[in-house]
Amino acid sequence: MSDPSFLPPGTAFEEERAPRYWIKTYGCQMNVHDSEKYAGILAEMGYQPANGPDEADVVLVNTCSVRERAEDKLFSELGRLRILKDQIAGSAYGKPKEILVGVTGCIAQQRGNEIIERQPAVDFVIGTRAIQTLPEVIADVRRSGDPCVNTQDLVDFESQGVRRADQVRAFVTIMEGCNNYCSFCIVPATRGLEVYRPAAAILDEIRGLGLRGYREVTLLGQNVNSWIDPDSRMEFPELLLAIDGSLHRAEAEDGQSGVERVRFLTSHPKDLSPRLIDAMGAADRVAKHLHLPVQSGSNRILSNMNRHYTAESYLEQVAALRQAVPGVGLSTDLIVGFPGETDKDFEATLELVRQVEYDSFYSFEYSPRPDTAAVTQYEDDVPAEIKRTRLIELQRTGRSIQEARNAAWVGHETKVLVDSLSKRSDEDVSGRTSSNHIVNMAGDTGLIGKLVDVRVLSHAAHSVYGEIIGLPH
Ligand code: SF4
Repeated sequence: MSDPSFLPPGTAFEEERAPRYWIKTYGCQMNVHDSEKYAGILAEMGYQPANGPDEADVVLVNTCSVRERAEDKLFSELGRLRILKDQIAGSAYGKPKEILVGVTGCIAQQRGNEIIERQPAVDFVIGTRAIQTLPEVIADVRRSGDPCVNTQDLVDFESQGVRRADQVRAFVTIMEGCNNYCSFCIVPATRGLEVYRPAAAILDEIRGLGLRGYREVTLLGQNVNSWIDPDSRMEFPELLLAIDGSLHRAEAEDGQSGVERVRFLTSHPKDLSPRLIDAMGAADRVAKHLHLPVQSGSNRILSNMNRHYTAESYLEQVAALRQAVPGVGLSTDLIVGFPGETDKDFEATLELVRQVEYDSFYSFEYSPRPDTAAVTQYEDDVPAEIKRTRLIELQRTGRSIQEARNAAWVGHETKVLVDSLSKRSDEDVSGRTSSNHIVNMAGDTGLIGKLVDVRVLSHAAHSVYGEIIGLPH
């Protein structure tokens, strides 16, 4: 019998195999996790992952509208998929295989029908809150042969299967949407207003992940520290303490350490309460790291961004956090060239970065996003070359601070959760400290998922290198 891997798509032999899916994901961790949910639903429907779109029966493009020219990139991708569909439909081998192409995520929510009007190769569009409708949408399209669009608000945290890509670290959704309306951001329009998952379901999922061998969990939400239990009104600091307590009880009952660390993303400075800072200090399973986007160091720009805090209040929070959580790692997001940003405003951002001394940061040039308040309220008046120069200067400043902070690790001992082989060498593994610093060290795949004690030997711009000094556990 022929090896099925050599058979072209559409042959009778291939039709007997399990259907396959391929997902292209753009954007943040929320989107990465949404793709894991789509993969879980498809797995429950009997689909297996394909190695590429040409092998797949269903192709999903899970979109993000945050980055510049996101829609142009989407339609380029869809153009390539249209060519692929045409090629496969015109195949000389047997009955043509039909690929269904679906668009999901933020642009799907925002543009809905317009996507199908612009690119007829798209068979269906599913919005950010209708993930679980995938089986009926696929059945609908297959039955009717017509395109289908579902952008309804059907948030249901419990009905979505999840097929996680990572076997050490897992994402857990605790809320959907955002109420903040930062003027540069489209998220409240694409993901809707905040909806919260009950604490009991969050605790159950984390317990289950521990039993399945996961060692780290990241609680996900656009504005995670505004989470509140929909029934008991428990708030986010108490949720962290409840998770910490539950992990300690699980360890005592199961005799295995299970989930060692809990991270959370993303926090808004206006919702960083003293109680949350205290909870981070008190709960030893909560990672000593906070991603706290500041965006700008200029109070005038922060006000125009609708951020509801000042540079001064932010610096006070950082000081309180560093006092309550010694060794805490801090990262941030920064935008340069927001409308009206002067040299003085930009200098205030540089000054804030120098004062905070971030361990890592993400920085972007402002570019107008359709349908955001900033587009209607302000002119995009900072010239492109000034945005570029400011970004380069900001990144140079941030990188030299980051490198100096990495250098300060040399000679110190720390605990590292090994999560993968190193990207640079097959003889090294890579992991993270509780403070989210990347540590590389000699080792093999047997260490993945283990906590190791490491002495730091040297540093680079974005990571440090160490040696294991104790038995993995
Ligand atoms: S907090 Fe602001 S930047 Fe973050 S998702 Fe909400 S609106 Fe967007």
